[in-house]
Amino acid sequence: MSFDTLGLSAELLRAVASQGYTVPTPVQSQAIPLILQGRDIMAGAQTGTGKTAGFTLPMLQTLATRPASGAVSNGRRPVRALVLTPTRELAAQVHESIVTYGRHLNLKSLVVFGGVSINPQIAALRRGVDILVATPGRLLDHASQRTVDLSSVEFLVLDEADRMLDMGFIRDIRRVLKLLPAKRQNLLFSATFSGEIRELADGLLSNPASIDVAPRNTPAELIAQKVHPVDKSRKRELLSLLIGKNDWRQVLVFTRTKHGANRLAEQLEQDGLTAAAIHGNKSQGARTRALADFKAGKVRILVATDIAARGLDIDQLPHVVNYELPHVPEDYVHRIGRTGRAGRNGEAVSLVCVDEKDLLRGIERLLGVTLVSEIVPGFAPDPRVRAEPIENGRRGGGGKPKRPGEQSRHGAQAHHRPAGRSGGARRRQGSRNTGTRP
Ligand code: AMP
Repeated sequence: MSFDTLGLSAELLRAVASQGYTVPTPVQSQAIPLILQGRDIMAGAQTGTGKTAGFTLPMLQTLATRPASGAVSNGRRPVRALVLTPTRELAAQVHESIVTYGRHLNLKSLVVFGGVSINPQIAALRRGVDILVATPGRLLDHASQRTVDLSSVEFLVLDEADRMLDMGFIRDIRRVLKLLPAKRQNLLFSATFSGEIRELADGLLSNPASIDVAPRNTPAELIAQKVHPVDKSRKRELLSLLIGKNDWRQVLVFTRTKHGANRLAEQLEQDGLTAAAIHGNKSQGARTRALADFKAGKVRILVATDIAARGLDIDQLPHVVNYELPHVPEDYVHRIGRTGRAGRNGEAVSLVCVDEKDLLRGIERLLGVTLVSEIVPGFAPDPRVRAEPIENGRRGGGGKPKRPGEQSRHGAQAHHRPAGRSGGARRRQGSRNTGTRP
């Protein structure tokens, strides 16, 4: 199938072609015609499936061809489309896509998120914006200052809705919904579908078309996954060795804590490798710079926490390393989804110490596979080392208001899904794995 058959305008097809895309991804070929028909959508699609273009292209087309229904308020063009995302990085990325695909159209877009001055955002909103991409917290700041008018929104997109709920945004979302007109088209994208998501969808979507492009929580087939058992105290040494020996040029490494990310980045630098850390305690400027340097190849290793990495779109990222396994099995899927994107091959390696056996088991249960385990010669775990409980840096229920990218998630248990979907058939994953088993 080609893009020409989806009903997109010549301007959009031109923008798509200039990106080098020739074949729509499954979520695109399903979502684009339905959205053009005006349907609400509930899509099970994780990052890496091409979902952003899947909702952006038909939304741009509808906005460009249909006259605005809302009146010009205070001489200002009202917002016609609102895209909500959980994190600043994802907001920036979605906005970038809107600019890219809409460059031959006469529509204005803006991204607003916290951590940066609100004043330029206010000025831009005053000048008039057709499409607004926002994180919930900053959007509500604008709403309370009456610097944004959402009464004419024709499209609402909730991107990575599961993560928004995970991050405690449900109340913010409900407050935003109250500011929107009842008649609008709603598009909900989520990698997973918990009861909470379904409840939100029920109240939000009208006769939605369901799209499910990849079995939920199943990592892309293209990602080769491997576990290296190793003592905690030797993880850094092993990581440096793997990067050096295999000549990995661009590696995204996950730690559980911000402190751990900082420390590891420093230690890798001491090992002579270029590394930067990205997490919620860093200023927006520092995060953007670290990501830009990493994308440009100036920094070889980006060490990230789960929240900070959410939504990062780095083309052709070949290697993801779980330096520490995540507390929540779903985060493993999100992490390794950074690689193997849009049809490319990727490799995800997890360094697992004795303390993390239960976390590994939880991940394998979720995936319905046993991951290939391979001891790197010289790094066999010391059998005398006993498992210790893993520190959980998170605190439950904290009272502080949450802002995107800054909060640590809590309630790991609440999002723990029941065991695997595969009826118990435990397949051995890793036919594409290259290493030999000891
Ligand atoms: P997303 O899931 O929206 O984050 O997109 C994942 C990646 O796929 C991005 O780098 C897109 O630029 C890329 N992409 C989106 N659509 C296509 C397509 N039809 N063909 C090839 N790559 C695509």
